[in-house]
Amino acid sequence: MMRLHYAGVAAALIASALVAQAQQQPPAQAPAAAPAAAPAPPPTATTKVADNVYIFRYVGHQAMFIVTPAGVIATDPISLRRPAKPYIDAIQAVTKAPIKYVIYSHSHFDHSAGGQPFKDLGATFVAQRNAKARIQALKPADVVVPDQVVDDKKVITLGGTTLELLYIGKNHSDSTLVMRLPKEKIIFTVDWIPIQGVQFREMADTYVPDIEDGLKKVIALDWETLIPGHPGPGGKQTGTKDNARDQLAYLQDLSAAVKQEVSQGKSYDDAVKDISLPKYSAWPNYKSFLPMNIERYYDFWNRGI
Ligand SMILES: [Zn+2]
Repeated sequence: MMRLHYAGVAAALIASALVAQAQQQPPAQAPAAAPAAAPAPPPTATTKVADNVYIFRYVGHQAMFIVTPAGVIATDPISLRRPAKPYIDAIQAVTKAPIKYVIYSHSHFDHSAGGQPFKDLGATFVAQRNAKARIQALKPADVVVPDQVVDDKKVITLGGTTLELLYIGKNHSDSTLVMRLPKEKIIFTVDWIPIQGVQFREMADTYVPDIEDGLKKVIALDWETLIPGHPGPGGKQTGTKDNARDQLAYLQDLSAAVKQEVSQGKSYDDAVKDISLPKYSAWPNYKSFLPMNIERYYDFWNRGI
């Protein structure tokens, strides 16, 4: 007992000596000043896109909201693990009209989470039917279950504004809506038509080649301005039909290149090593995500998935 006790005291003394020693160390020298970086943009911003149409940006996510005399149509809460209050404050800084709707762009939680404060204000939640099913199956703690669902098309008319909710098939998810304002010629659709970018990582929930058909369908619709779910290079918040055309061309070029590799019996690694698509190499995420995009298409051509 005595030895154990003594050992304990000794250990405690050594530990306290080490702490004292550490405390006596002179402070580490400050690193040389880094070159002045551009100041980070503020975490939230509201941008007016048309008379009644706004983008709320919350760090790297974007949502559209539409203001009418009869109330507001909001989209994605974009408040996963952060308060929704900045979004509600941004709407109320523009109008005191009630928030009548929250419409989910698709099921993914980084866009759909955080809607409860909107629900508490009386908003009706709308999503594509498959989004509701996914949310009900996975029961994410912070995602409000939609009250109403869209199958192929639903039109919301509020205070003189018409908003079409269109489901044109599987693409980045099986529940992605294209929200179209026919008068303003604006669409809001999320995560599959970036402003200059390859697809995200391994295209986890993406349907191939359905996404290419979806791009053809969205290009055929009548619109001029795209609001995506994330800003593009340089913080650009809106795009045009050319971004959709570029994305279709990218996926078709990628698909053809991977198909050729697979037909020659090449491996994943060969395909990643062999394929470069210089037309798109200036897109900011080209280097990091192209290899994973290649693997996604490799699975399609090699095993049909
Ligand atoms: Zn998504």
